[in-house]
Parts: sequence; structure tokens; C-alpha cells
Amino acid sequence: MTLTNNPEPAALDADVIVIGAGISGSSAAKALHDQGKKVIIVEANDRIGGRTWTEPGDVPGGPIDYGGMFIGETHTQLIELGTSLGLEMTPSGKPGDDTYVVLGDLLRAPDEQLDTGLAFVPEFLASLEALDKLADSVGWNQPWAAPDAAVLDSKTVGTWLTETVESPEARQLHTLIVNAILGAHPDEVSLLYWAYYVSECEGIESLLGTRDGAQWAWWIGGAAQVSWRIADAIGRDNVLLDWPVSRIEQNSSGVTVFSSERSLSARHVIIAMSPLAANQIGFEPPLPPARTQLQAGARMGRYYKLQVRYTTPFWVEQGYSGAIMDTDDYGTFILDGTKPTDSLATLIGFVGGSSYDRWAAHSAEERQSAFIELLVKAFGPEAKAPSYFHETNWTTQEWAKGGPVTYMPPGVLAHFGAALRDSVGRIHFAGTEASFQWSGYMEGGVRAGQKAAAAILENFA
Ligand SMILES: Cc1cc2nc3c(=O)[nH]c(=O)nc-3n(C[C@H](O)[C@H](O)[C@H](O)COP(=O)(O)OP(=O)(O)OC[C@H]3O[C@@H](n4cnc5c(N)ncnc54)[C@H](O)[C@@H]3O)c2cc1C
Repeated sequence: MTLTNNPEPAALDADVIVIGAGISGSSAAKALHDQGKKVIIVEANDRIGGRTWTEPGDVPGGPIDYGGMFIGETHTQLIELGTSLGLEMTPSGKPGDDTYVVLGDLLRAPDEQLDTGLAFVPEFLASLEALDKLADSVGWNQPWAAPDAAVLDSKTVGTWLTETVESPEARQLHTLIVNAILGAHPDEVSLLYWAYYVSECEGIESLLGTRDGAQWAWWIGGAAQVSWRIADAIGRDNVLLDWPVSRIEQNSSGVTVFSSERSLSARHVIIAMSPLAANQIGFEPPLPPARTQLQAGARMGRYYKLQVRYTTPFWVEQGYSGAIMDTDDYGTFILDGTKPTDSLATLIGFVGGSSYDRWAAHSAEERQSAFIELLVKAFGPEAKAPSYFHETNWTTQEWAKGGPVTYMPPGVLAHFGAALRDSVGRIHFAGTEASFQWSGYMEGGVRAGQKAAAAILENFA
């Protein structure tokens, strides 16, 4: 193994270089900094936060999150970290009836429950239970070693739906769920990966919860504050923006990280990003084949996050929670995103996977009108006059490479999944995808970052 730079310890720029100023890299950097290690974060983007992206400034109504936002009830590490940084939470769930738009029918669901007298509902609920059972059989620890892992990984979620769910309405709802949670259509996603994802996020009910589970609370002031405050704590001079890493070289004593003509050296490096983003980096010596295949095979969802603000939360006055599961139109999952500190009321739309494709085929103006039309259909004519509309297209974000999360097509997790969390010499992998649980969420980012830092600290040399 050769290194163009083979620096002596005294000449190193840092003990550890962290690549990526998202919540995972930031969490890793804080854990190392707290133990007296010299850390430098390098970030390709011109902002800190990665898939958390808060606009604090002049947005009408108050700060707004273009990316990750909801804190789950059991997101213990995130809650502990954010609270220790002085952030405050506010509950996100809103009382009132949920709304479903399913194959032409507009349905109202009090207490979050669809009417079980509707023909498709029992089958839909039974299919969610079947999914949970499958998730339990796969587990979150080592899904690649689960019984039937290879068989499950040879199938898509779409095939499973065709084989096990008869009613078109129930299938449409599942399709919306997978599109909204992973940013990919069921036909694209490995059944093993989906079962693993449901398991590591504590079950489908937890993933879908709109008042509890994964969507339980928010940080007042926005989610990216976690990374901003960590950057302040470790020193903004130690966070280098516009620093896209193109190559990493390692030898037995250290690592050197390159960006254009620049380089930095350290004892260890943490790569805190999705496998797909990491796949843009060259390695000398090359990574083991399983890690290379994993990075080449894992994909990112495609996603729009839409946000519309109104002077009043008129839907609340009509007894609605603001939650809409729309399998028709463009296929959108909508939630009320109004914080008590906001001066305007917010509805947030999540459009992923095949819904994203349908949406992307239209102009920005057409998309905005279609979204407003859907809100008019659900909540009446008051929805016609928003004060603010914003669309974030995560698929065109150069360094995120998509959103909201990683998904895997068949043939990746069973064969190469074991490489997801393993270090390669002095190269350590964080990023939410490397977490055992809540991978895909901010919580997973924190856990994976802290785990990578702990592994380095345990045996620092
Ligand atoms: C629209 C949307 C909604 C979401 N909603 C929620 C939610 O409500 N709750 C929740 O918990 N999670 C949510 N998520 C997911 C959550 O935001 C992510 O899981 C989490 O932020 C991932 O953090 P990370 O640090 O692992 O990765 P990232 O945030 O992706 O950070 C990786 C960083 O690495 C940088 N980078 C990439 N390549 C390079 C390179 N070559 N050199 C240097 N830097 C590089 C990137 O710019 C980025 O800053 C959402 C995500 C999106 C997009």
C-alpha cells in the first residue's frame, strides 16, 4: 500500500477527519471533541446540516425545515443530544380527523382509524400485520443472516403485494406508504430491505404514527440547529465547507483526504454520509469488494417536500388533523407542520418514488396548483389562498444524491449488507444508514456517528 503523503503524527492536521456535516458527522465530531480529540469536519456543500436543512431567515411564518424534521418518541440519543445543546421540543401531533383519498373516494378517519366497514380496510389492516410479522422474522441486527434472507432479497415489495394483497385500495395505500417513507415504488425495493427497515424502526405502526411513533415532536427553530450548535462547540474554523472529498488514501499509520488540490491528514477518518454518496469517493487502497458492491448497489429515494402556509389553520377549525393519505392525484402524504412559535399555519406534503415521477413530469406552476387543488378537495375553498409555497426537490441536491433515505433493490442487502457498518482499517462508516436502529432517521444518524466515534476512542492509535 502506498501513500503520496505519509505524515508523521506531529504533522497531522487532526486526530480525526469527519467527512459530512450532517447530523451523523456532527454527532461523531462532538463525541470526539468532548474527549479531547482534534477533529476537522469537511463538507462538500456550502451549508451545515446535510439532509436536515433549516431556513431560519426571512421565510414568512417562521423557520422552516426543508429536510428531516420529526423526532420520534423513542429517538433517545437525538433527544438527549439536542437537549444537551439547549434545544427545545414541541409535540407535532394534531387532534382531529385524518383524511384518505383512495381510488376516487374521500374518506374521513376519526381517531386515526379508517372505518372497518369499508370493504378494503380489514385486508389493508391484515396486510400491515403481515408486514410486521415478516419484519420480526428478519430483525434489525443482521438482516442478511435472517432465515430466508436470500429468498426475501430476491423479491420486490411489489411482488409481495401482488401475491398477498387483493384489494386495489389496499395495494394503493401500501404503494403510497413505501413511496412516502423510502422515496421509491414497491417494485423497486427488496422485500428483505423493507422488512428490515420496518423492524429497525420498531414496526409499521411506529413508522406511520402521526401523533406518536416516528412523528412525535419537532425542535423549535428547526432540525439543522443540532449540527449548527455542534459546529459552534467544536469551532466553526474546524468545519470546512465547499470541501468535496474526491479521494481517501490510508496506510498503517494514518489517512489523507483529498479535495481538488487540497489535502488533510489524520489518524482516522469517518465517512458520515449515505452509501451512494460515499460511492463518489475514490479509495487507495480500494475498499473491500463487499463494501464497494454495497455502495454501488444501494440507492437513494427520489423526493419532493412541499410546504404551504396559510394565515389560519382552517382545517383544524373544521375538525381535521391536517393528515392526508392521497393515493390518487399525484400520490401525496400530507401532515400539519405548524409549530406554536410560527405566525402562519403549515401543511407539508411528501411526494416520493413513482409519485415523484408523476409530479416531476409537470412544471413547477402545475405542481403548485395540483397541490393546492388537492387541499381544496380535502379542506374546502379556504385552501385556495396560501401565503407561502415552497418545494424542495431532493433528487437534484448534488451531495445528498436524493432523499429522504437509502433503499436497496433486490440482491444487495443479503449479499453485501454485512459491509454496511464495518470499518476498513482507519476508515469508519457513520451516516444514518450505518445505525442498527432508526437507520434512515436523524436518530440513526446520531447513533451511527456516536458509534463510529466510540470505536475510534476505544482503541485510539
Ligand atoms: C425531505 C426529507 C424529510 C425527512 N424527514 C425526516 C424526519 O421527519 N425525521 C427524521 O428523523 N429523518 C427525516 N429525514 C431523514 C434524515 O434527514 C436523515 O436520515 C439524516 O439527516 C441523515 O443524516 P446523515 O448525517 O446520516 O446524512 P446526511 O445528512 O446526508 O449528511 C451527509 C453529508 O455529507 C456531505 N457529503 C456528501 N458527499 C460528500 C463528499 N464527497 N465530501 C464531503 N462531504 C460530502 C453531504 O453534503 C451531507 O452534508 C428526512 C430526509 C429528507 C430529505
